[in-house]
Amino acid sequence: MIRQYELVELVKRYNPHADEALLNRAYVYAMRAHGAQKRASGDPYISHPLEVAAILTKLRLDDATIIAAILHDTIEDTAATRDEIEKLFGQQIATLVDGLTKIKKLDLVSKKAAQAENLRKLLLAIADDVRVLLVKLADRLHNMRTLHHVPPEKRARIAEETLDIYAPLAGRMGMQEMRDELEDIGFRNLMPEAYAMVTKRLEELRSGSKEIIARIESDLHDRLAAQGISAEIDGREKQPYSIWKKMERKSVSFEQLSDIFGFRIIVPALADCYRVLGVIHTTWASVPGRFKDYISTPKQNDYRSIHTTVIGPGQQRVELQIRTRKMHDIAEYGIAAHAIYKDGGPGQDGARDSRAYQWLRRTIELLAEGDSPEEFLEHTKLELFHDQVFCFTPKGRLIALPRGATLIDFAYAVHTDVGDTAVAAKVNGRSAPVISELHNGDEVEIVCAEGQVPPAAWEAVVATGKARAAIRRATRAAVRKQYSGLGRQIVERAFVRANKPFSMDNLKAALPRLARQHVDDVLAAVGRGEMFSGDVVKAVHPDFKEEQAAGAEADEREKGWFELKKAESLKFRVPGQVNGEAAIPIRGLGGDLPVHFAPHGGAVPGDRIVGILTPGEGITIYPIQSEALSNFEDHPERWLDVRWDLDEARRSRFPAQIIVSAINEPGIFAELARIIGEADANIDNIIMHAPSPDFREIVFDLEVWDLKHLNAIIGGIKAKSVVSSVKRVND
Ligand code: MN
Repeated sequence: MIRQYELVELVKRYNPHADEALLNRAYVYAMRAHGAQKRASGDPYISHPLEVAAILTKLRLDDATIIAAILHDTIEDTAATRDEIEKLFGQQIATLVDGLTKIKKLDLVSKKAAQAENLRKLLLAIADDVRVLLVKLADRLHNMRTLHHVPPEKRARIAEETLDIYAPLAGRMGMQEMRDELEDIGFRNLMPEAYAMVTKRLEELRSGSKEIIARIESDLHDRLAAQGISAEIDGREKQPYSIWKKMERKSVSFEQLSDIFGFRIIVPALADCYRVLGVIHTTWASVPGRFKDYISTPKQNDYRSIHTTVIGPGQQRVELQIRTRKMHDIAEYGIAAHAIYKDGGPGQDGARDSRAYQWLRRTIELLAEGDSPEEFLEHTKLELFHDQVFCFTPKGRLIALPRGATLIDFAYAVHTDVGDTAVAAKVNGRSAPVISELHNGDEVEIVCAEGQVPPAAWEAVVATGKARAAIRRATRAAVRKQYSGLGRQIVERAFVRANKPFSMDNLKAALPRLARQHVDDVLAAVGRGEMFSGDVVKAVHPDFKEEQAAGAEADEREKGWFELKKAESLKFRVPGQVNGEAAIPIRGLGGDLPVHFAPHGGAVPGDRIVGILTPGEGITIYPIQSEALSNFEDHPERWLDVRWDLDEARRSRFPAQIIVSAINEPGIFAELARIIGEADANIDNIIMHAPSPDFREIVFDLEVWDLKHLNAIIGGIKAKSVVSSVKRVND
C-alpha cells in the first residue's frame, strides 16, 4: 500500500515545483472523508485514491489531476460536497472531481455491451476535461488490479465492462500499455479457462522468442536502412486477449494462428511497401500460401496491406504486415479514416469520431512529453461529442441524439409508435414535461396513451428529422379523420333536413355519381367544404329538390354562433349589405348613390375612411390603410372625402374581416367561435383553409361595433396559445 509521502515523492520527481502542501491537504481531506471505509481487500479506503494518483504520476500529470485523483470518490461516497472542495482546493479541482462523480453515477455496468462505442462517446461527452478521463481510466485500472478481492459474482460484469468500454478507450487514446493491462485482467476474470489455455500455449512458445523478436527487429532495421527505406517497425508479441479475439473471430485454433509474433512495418509511400517485401523475402524463407497482397486487391472493407509469413530464426513463424500510414489509419479506424484524407471534405460522423480520438491521442502524447502541462491542460477542453446527447431507456438501451433534442425526440427515436402516443415522461424517475431538453446520461421513461395524437405544436420543439416527419404524418392523418368526422355530421344533418334516410351503404352506392372512390373521401370533402352536403343528398336521392332544404338552412342560422362549429354554417354566404335596410352612416356623400363597404375587409367606426366612386355602381368605403386603394391611385377624381356619422341612439354593427392562423387542434374551431361570441360580435361568414396539415387558416367575416371592439376581439383570440397569428384583412 502506497503512502502519502511516497506519492508526493513520485510527483516531485517530474515536477519539482509541485504544491506539496496542497497535495497533503487533499490527502488529509480524503482520508477524513472516507474515514473508516474499507476496500473489499480490507485495506483502508484511502489506499485506493492514493494508488490511482500514483498511476497518474506515470503520465507526469499536473497537481490538479493528482489531487482530483485523491479526491475522486469523495463526493459520491462520502459526506463531502462540491462546494466544500471548491472552497478548499479551488474551482478547477472541484470541476474535475465533479466530472468524475457524474461519470460514476452513470453506472455503465448495467448497460448493454452492443452499444460500447456510444458508451465511450458518452464518457467523452460527459468529461469536459481530458484529465477527468485519465483519472477515470486510472481508477478503473486500480479497480481491475484489485478485482480478485471483489465477490466473484460481481467480477464478470466489471470485467466485461472494462473489455467493452474502458480498454478500447485507452487504446483509442493511445495508451497501449494501459489497454493491455486492462484487457489482460478483464480477460482473465471474464473467461478464466480460455485465458489459462491461451497463456499456457503462449508461454510454451515464448521460451527464447524474446530474443528472436529483438533479432528480427534489428535485422529488419539494418536491411531497410541499407536500402534507404525509412520505416516504422512495430514488433510485438500479441497479448492473450487479442489472440483470443482473433481465434474467436476467425474460429481457428491456437495452432492455426500464425501471427502470435508479428511485425507491422509502416512506410511513407506505396512503392516502399513492395521494396520492403523484397527485402523480407530475400532475407527469410516465406511460408507458402501465406502471402496476401491486399494492396493491389483490397478487401471488401477497403483494408489494404501486404501480409506475409516467414520462417524466422529459430524456426518460429512470424507474420509481417506492410502498409503505408494512410492504409494503417484506415485499418485502425475503418472506413471513417477515408474522410481524413479527403482534402477538406465534409466530415461524416465516422470521420469526426476518428478525428476526435486522434486529437485525444495527440493530447495524451503532449501530456506525456510536456515539461509543464498545467497551462496546456487549462486551455484544453474536451468538446469531442458535445454536439450529441446520450440517454438511456429504462432497459438500458442507449439512444444518441443531437444536442437540444427533447423527450419527444427520444420517444420517436425509441419507436414511432412511442412518439405518436407519448403523453408524459419521467427523467431519472421524476416526472418531466415531454418538451424538456435531454441531458447526457438521463434515463428516460416515456408514458404512452393509446389513441393519442401528437400535437402539431411539437413540430416546433423537436430537434430530429425523424420526430418532425412523424409528427407531420400523424397530424395529417388526424386532420383527415377530423374532416371526415365533421363531414359525416354535416351529411347526416343534411339528410335529416331533407327528410331522407341516410345510410353508409346508400352513400357507397352513390360514389360514382360523386366521382369519389371511398365514402371517407366524400365525408372528408364535405368536412373540408369542397363538396356541398346538398349535393351528397342529391347523389343518393336523385329525386331530391334542393329548394326543400333552403328554409331549413335559414333556420339553422338562427341557432346562433355556437352552431357554427357544426359546419353547415361553413357554407353560409350572406352577400351584400350588412345592415339590411339601415342607411350607412357616412357623412360627405351627396345624392342617392348606393354605398357599400370594402368587399374584403369592410370598415368600422374608428377607421379613417375614404370613399371610392365607381360610376354605375356607387360608392365603396375603404379604410385608409386598405391595400385595395392602390388600384385607384391613378384616378384621383374618384376619391371622396368621407367621415363617419354615427347615431348613438341607433347603434349598428359594421363589417370587418380577420384571418386567424391556428394550430389544428380538435375543438379550436368551436373555441374561436366561443371567444368571438362572448365578445358580443356576430359571425357572418367563415371560410376555412388548411394551408398545411398542421394549421388552419380561418377567415371570419364579423359584425362589430367599432374599431375598439374589433381590437378587443383580436386581442382575445391572440391570447390563445394555439393561435399563431390574427390579422385584420385590409385589401
Ligand atoms: Mn474509485
